[in-house]
Order: sequence, then C-alpha cells, then structure tokens
Amino acid sequence: MSGTGDQAETDRAEPDALIYPLSLRVEGRRVLVVGGGAVAVRRVAGLRAAGADVWVVAPELSPTLADLAARSLITARMRPYEPADVEGAWLVFACTDRREINAAVAADAERQRIWCVRADDGAASAAWVPAVGRLSDTVVAVNAGRNPRLAAVLRDRCMDTVGAAARSDGDARTRRRVGLVSIVGGGPGDPGLITVAGWRRLQDADIVVTDRLAPLALLDQLAPDVEVIDAAKVPGGPATRQEQINRTLVDRAQAGLRVLRLKGGDPFVFGRGHEEVEACRAAGVPVEVIPGVTSAISVPAAAGIPVTHRGLSQGFCVVAGHASPADSRSTVEWAALARSGLTLVLLMAIEHLAGTAAALVAAGLSAGTPSACVADGWTRRQRLVTAPLSDIASAVRGAGIANPAVIVIGNVARFAAGSVFTPAGAGAVKTYGMATY
Ligand code: SAH
Repeated sequence: MSGTGDQAETDRAEPDALIYPLSLRVEGRRVLVVGGGAVAVRRVAGLRAAGADVWVVAPELSPTLADLAARSLITARMRPYEPADVEGAWLVFACTDRREINAAVAADAERQRIWCVRADDGAASAAWVPAVGRLSDTVVAVNAGRNPRLAAVLRDRCMDTVGAAARSDGDARTRRRVGLVSIVGGGPGDPGLITVAGWRRLQDADIVVTDRLAPLALLDQLAPDVEVIDAAKVPGGPATRQEQINRTLVDRAQAGLRVLRLKGGDPFVFGRGHEEVEACRAAGVPVEVIPGVTSAISVPAAAGIPVTHRGLSQGFCVVAGHASPADSRSTVEWAALARSGLTLVLLMAIEHLAGTAAALVAAGLSAGTPSACVADGWTRRQRLVTAPLSDIASAVRGAGIANPAVIVIGNVARFAAGSVFTPAGAGAVKTYGMATY
C-alpha cells in the first residue's frame, strides 16, 4: 500500500499493480458508509442491491438516504462520525467531502483490520470499487489505474463481448434446453425508448416476431442469423392471425429457441400481450413479460403534453376509441368519463373521433375543452393538431391525419408544443426551446 514510506516497494512496481481483485458476498453483513451526500447514495445503492446491512453515519442525509432510513432499509445515525462506528463492520466506505474525516475513518478501519474505501483518494485507499457491468450471472469488474472513465469505457467494451459470448454459448445450449418466450414492450417508436432489459433480450433472441407499431429500427441491429417474422404479414383475419402468432411463439420455444415478441409501447396496453402469455402457459412454455414505454403517456409527451399537471389534472384515463359510442359493442361509459375531470387519452380513436367527441360534449364535457392529436409520435413524421373538443375531429380529418395517433382531451392539452419538436432519431430526447429532457 502507499503511505508506508517504503521507497523500495513503490519502486518495484506501480502501486496500483499490487492489488488483489476479489468479489465479496456482503449479504447480511454490516457495511458502514460515512457521509450522507451524492457519493454515499451511489455506494449505498450498490451495497443494498448486494443485500448488505448498510449503516450510514452523517450529520445530514440526502433526501434519498433519509427516505431509505425512514423505511428502515438502512440504519442511519445522524451525527458526526465517531471512531467506534467502524466496530462490527466488515467493510467501510469513507464518502464525506472532508479529507481529514475520510483519513480518520480510513485510519480507524485500518487499525481494526477492516477494509476501507476512500472516495476522495484512491491512492490512500486500502480498497476501491471497480467499474462494474452485469449480465445475468456474469459480472465484469474493471480497474484501470486511477482512471475511472477509462475503466467505464473498458467495462462497456467487455460487456459487449460478454453479450456476444452469452449469445453463442446460448446457441450451443438451445439445442438441449427448452426455449423461452419474451414478450417485450418496444416503446412508442424511437429505438432509444426500449428498456435496458428489453434491449438485452433482443441481443439474445434467436427469433423476433414483430408488429407494425414496434420500433422497427431495432431490427436493423440484430445479428444476421436472427429470424424476423412480421406478425402483420401472418395471413388470416385478426382472430386467426392472433392464433397463428400464438402458435408460432409456442412452436419455436418448444424447439428450444429464444423467441422475442416485440410489441409497440407496452405489451399489456391494448397489445394482446396477455393472450400470448396465456397461450404460452397453456402449452407449458416458459414466458416472461418485459414492460415498455406506452404511447398513451409518451406520445403526448413527445408533443409537450404532460398527462397530469398539478392544479390542472389529477389523473388520466386511457381508453380505446376503436368502437363508436353508438356501437353496441362499446362498453365504455362515455358520460361518466365526461364528468370525471380526468385527462382522457384515446388510442385507436381516429376513425370514430367525431362520434366520440360528440358523445362527450352531449354528456356535459365543455365543447371548448383543449384537445390535441399527436400522430406518429417519436418518429420523424410526428404531427400535432390542436383544437377545442368540438372541432378536433374535423381538424384531424382536415390535416389528413391517419393512425397511429393519440388523442388527448383535457386542460393539459394546452401545453401542446409540437412545432418545436426536434427529430431525435435514435436519441430519444425531445427538445423544447433550450430545455432538454
Ligand atoms: N401497446 C401499445 C398500444 C397498442 S394500440 C402502447 O402501449 O403504446 C395501438 C394504438 O397505439 C394506435 O392506434 C395509436 O393510438 C397508439 N400508438 C402507438 N404508437 C404510436 C405512435 N408512435 N404515435 C401515435 N400513436 C401511437
């Protein structure tokens, strides 16, 4: 270790080369974190994920740590550090913004032969945290001397390799094992809006069954040997088509393949996702669902519309508008929705929009209620039409808008700001003036 004053030792090798990599099982063991700020939050999060019994000592806690303490998920002592705090700990993190306190914590730990990580001074630290990546049971930990950014870059490269290796290992294993159906929400259209879990499953897939509204740009990045089936091209009417899709999912999984069913938005929001889950279960095929970013919330957001806003809307209701209110198959109580005070978000509603809007107005919703239609959200073709409720259907028709489109009815529609939309491509970021989120 450095700090010994032993010149001969430091001359022999880079001090950072004299480390011994180790993985710790911290579950149920006490780990002390001294400090209550941003660095402490990061360490506490990682330690909790590993199941450690986390104790935090700091005169003040960040709101996140205070919340964890209030829920008894960590033990907090809100006072200055005392040397006795290290007693009973298996591992100590000195994460304060005061160098002398971190040094004192490290010295106390050293005296008791407890490993201590100093946030402020890697060189003076007995232990430190590598850049970490995980894929299932594989954990990659990278130390790159004193260069944490390089460590993070190398970690990312390693994770790419791990993903590829897991895939080819999987190729070998699939011949022997039963497959898996993953029903994955792909988000509203921008390939950046799939979840990390969904993205990882996509890297692992042997076959992808996709929908018209799924973010098709993701398919471009699949390995060439991955089979892609376009569910929209499966022949038959909607009922038989769904049966065929179910059968494809089940058959391929039973052949030992990893089947990824890629859906637009979230699989459980008008996505028939649960029908596919039931089909898999009935056939005894392992199935999982990875949720997605639904268009019901994210497409209004793409045009600057929040579905709730304090003082304007206490909630929102997502309704399928594919059947006209006059249609006997419609089970929606539009009159109740008109009185609800909620933001109404209508999907699949373009065809019957005039009838739907009229039913809401007839039931007492003000004809002047701000309304918006956002079509092709999160794509370069995104379009926005705004009008009072009584005019929205004709405005949408006049603009030549077609599906897919989301209708928002309620005061929040006032915030519509689609004209400042910046096509984001794969960036999944929308910019309104100077503010980026
Ligand atoms: N499971 C999907 C919804 C499927 S129903 C989800 O959670 O988003 C299909 C409807 O979703 C379309 O008719 C349209 O109303 C809406 N929709 C899906 N993607 C959209 C997009 N990119 N832009 C606008 N509307 C979209």
